[in-house]
Amino acid sequence: MSSMPRLFVNSDLVAGDAFALNEEQSKYLIRVMRLGSGDPVRVFNGRDGEWRAQISKADGRRADLVPVARLRSQQAHGGARLTLLFAPVKKSETDFIVEKATELGAARIQPVITERTQTRTVRLDRFAKIALEAAEQTERLDLPEVSDAVSLDAALEALPSGTPVVFCDEAGDEADAPWGGQAGRAAPMADVLGELGNRPAAILIGPEGGFSPAERAFLRGRADTYPVSLGPRILRAETAAVSAMTLWQALCGDWS
Ligand code: SAH
Repeated sequence: MSSMPRLFVNSDLVAGDAFALNEEQSKYLIRVMRLGSGDPVRVFNGRDGEWRAQISKADGRRADLVPVARLRSQQAHGGARLTLLFAPVKKSETDFIVEKATELGAARIQPVITERTQTRTVRLDRFAKIALEAAEQTERLDLPEVSDAVSLDAALEALPSGTPVVFCDEAGDEADAPWGGQAGRAAPMADVLGELGNRPAAILIGPEGGFSPAERAFLRGRADTYPVSLGPRILRAETAAVSAMTLWQALCGDWS
């Protein structure tokens, strides 16, 4: 049996209370998946858990669903909340970061503009669509919050006070050595996370050009900010984002 389609909907999910899908979702079920009245569909809305619904009406451009049985409850947010703060990079890599952050359970995805960020505007509608499709595929019961790009300072200010910021710092402190040499390099991320436990946290990833010396000095001097190393090689921003979120979920988040 083909895997039952899974859709995010805005409607309340109450047994027997039919609701209409939007045109795009209706076309997907009817034309792409070639489903019709009576066929089952899984739906979630971020509030009422996941339900098995049935198509109760299907014509070319419009389908109605009626919730039948709840399959999963909206458990209180499984693990601690993870926020990803990342400097946008090239378009497809940025799309990749949004999709992987959704699969890796980020509660919030916040693009930040740093001194060396090349891409200074982001397409919020595009991010929201990528996050929604990834949430449907990855069997999440909620969508990550996706926000418009803001300055690094504004993003840090907006964090609940005391939120630990895991600052992925690729550099050392030797100004004239290639990317800062060895002096002053951050501690391995796994060691630092051991200190943090399963507190809600934010992970900060810089742009292709890394953080400026002034940004590094500011971040290293900032309370609740934990510089971490992701090993002896320079990772692309998208690799660093996936690696850091994976490690955090494994040691502090909902993978344990
Ligand atoms: N400055 C580097 C590239 C930065 S990579 C250069 O000029 O080649 C982009 C971001 O990924 C960095 O800002 C950092 O947040 C993260 N990153 C990459 N490799 C890392 C490492 N080994 N340790 C910690 N963070 C890393």
